[in-house]
Amino acid sequence: MSNPASSTQEKRFNGVGVSPGIARGTVFVYRPDDDAAPSRSIEESEIPTEIARFEGALLATRAQILEMQQRIAESTGAKDASIFDAHLLVVEDRTLIDEVLRRLGADRMNVEHVFQTVAGRYAKTLSEIDDPYLRERALDIHDVTRRVIHNLMGTQARDLAGVTTPHILIAHNLAPSDTAQLNRALVLGFGTDAGSRTSHTAIMARSLNIPAIVGLHEASSQLVTGDHVLLDGYNGLLVVNPSDQTLWEYGELEIKKTVVEEKLSQLRETASTTRDGHHVILSANIELPDDMELVQQSGAEGVGLYRTEFFYLNKAELPTEEEQFAAYRQVAEAAAPHSVIIRTLDLGGDKFMSALHIPEELNPFLGWRAIRFCLERVDIFKTQLRAILRASAAGNVKIMYPMISGVEELRRANVLLEECRAELRAEGLAFNEEMEVGAMIEIPSAAISADILAKEVDFFSIGTNDLIQYSIAVDRLNEHIAHLYEPTHPAIIRLIRMTVEAAHANNLWVGVCGEMAGDILLTPLLLGLGIDELSAGAGSVPRVKRAVQSLDNAACRQLVEEIQHLDTAAAILAKCDAVARAHYPELL
Ligand code: PEP
Ligand code: MG
Repeated sequence: MSNPASSTQEKRFNGVGVSPGIARGTVFVYRPDDDAAPSRSIEESEIPTEIARFEGALLATRAQILEMQQRIAESTGAKDASIFDAHLLVVEDRTLIDEVLRRLGADRMNVEHVFQTVAGRYAKTLSEIDDPYLRERALDIHDVTRRVIHNLMGTQARDLAGVTTPHILIAHNLAPSDTAQLNRALVLGFGTDAGSRTSHTAIMARSLNIPAIVGLHEASSQLVTGDHVLLDGYNGLLVVNPSDQTLWEYGELEIKKTVVEEKLSQLRETASTTRDGHHVILSANIELPDDMELVQQSGAEGVGLYRTEFFYLNKAELPTEEEQFAAYRQVAEAAAPHSVIIRTLDLGGDKFMSALHIPEELNPFLGWRAIRFCLERVDIFKTQLRAILRASAAGNVKIMYPMISGVEELRRANVLLEECRAELRAEGLAFNEEMEVGAMIEIPSAAISADILAKEVDFFSIGTNDLIQYSIAVDRLNEHIAHLYEPTHPAIIRLIRMTVEAAHANNLWVGVCGEMAGDILLTPLLLGLGIDELSAGAGSVPRVKRAVQSLDNAACRQLVEEIQHLDTAAAILAKCDAVARAHYPELL
């Protein structure tokens, strides 16, 4: 297939729209793994030119690293920027450079190839030594090698932090550690080949209100940086070189959507209460303290899920108690008088921190993740618990534990929390003695034993993203089996119902903080099941609020009665869809 960039003909890619909106602009294609250098043999007479190119590339790389270091020091502090000191050492490493110069003469191959081979061997040797410091150096060499090769080839460094103009980001896949380096203000839209509704890119895009498409299959290999595209997040369509006719049609659609968006923005100060007077708390999910600005604009009632692991990604060292305290306090103050539910560290799965050297696992989503990790790394966990407790003195803070599978984990976590309370009391540091403690219900065993867990906590928050993944045994990130990922599967509805019944029987409130909470087709279902709180990405909050305001709680209860005897996800979804269309067709 020809490269779309090579012609000006319109070309369309279909995927799954996971965050609504339309974006138009220039593409930046992110290919982190595409770093194989070309190889060709050279004449002896070419050696001086190759050496000059190599020296030029080292100088350019050095300048880029210094610039990046400066930028990070200004935005997040000198400590984070120190990670680049090690990168600078690599471009100045005499052993490495001398070996490249020697091999150029001996092998008579182009310098990209020689450098990649030499640096690759060097990194491999270091990574095989049983020493965490040297293994880290191997990663530095790998990073710097990529950068030098790109400079030699005159291609753009595939570094998201280095993109400084507004763009539509296209990638095969984006890991949380990739997006953590993004300047989010510059991203107009996201498109990935892989992914699903609950993959990290989709969740983040909805929170930031940026249009996004996943499941584009091979768009990233066919597009090149600089292509002009139109990205339709409503219909999951990516149009390269859109024709005048397409642009005109989208202009019309945008006018219609702007009218709806304007109406929605007027809801900011209104309450999320149904027509028959039932109030459901509507809060927002955040990843970083900076997300609070969008939360405030969205009209959410506080934060129902603060995913704190983003604070740990791409950092050379673990964040200290003081750093965490400052961030949590900032969020608590911004959310006041509403509450902030801070979720303790959920590393593992698809979120890793290189400083922790979590070993690679065959099934990371079933592995050493979240609370399982924290209960072993008590040092890391208690640092976070202390910071959260201290922030509870500055606002309405609640805490919740992710990936609880049974009551022992919950009790052990609570014992550590109690130890932290005792320490803070002894040190005379303020915290809220009454801070509410909750458990996420995102593993089937937790939903099934919710009546047991209810005795140990003040609230539940249902993490439907994982609950669906684990109940139906469907990898939430795998686009090949995305059709099996069905929130309205009868089993999921039963698990939610069991959780709500156990919570209410024990006088607990129960929320949903997974992506089901932001899907307005499912709002009638969740209300009918008795959910007390919905926490969605800030971008989805106005729509969900409008949906709640258009519904009758009685009609939602009736819906739940009617679906009791339906046996397929599709049949249940059709019923939900009918209720949604009857009450808020303009949103769909
Ligand atoms: C969930 O699993 O539904 C959830 C909210 O947590 P995360 O998406 O961060 O795993
Ligand atoms: Mg989860």
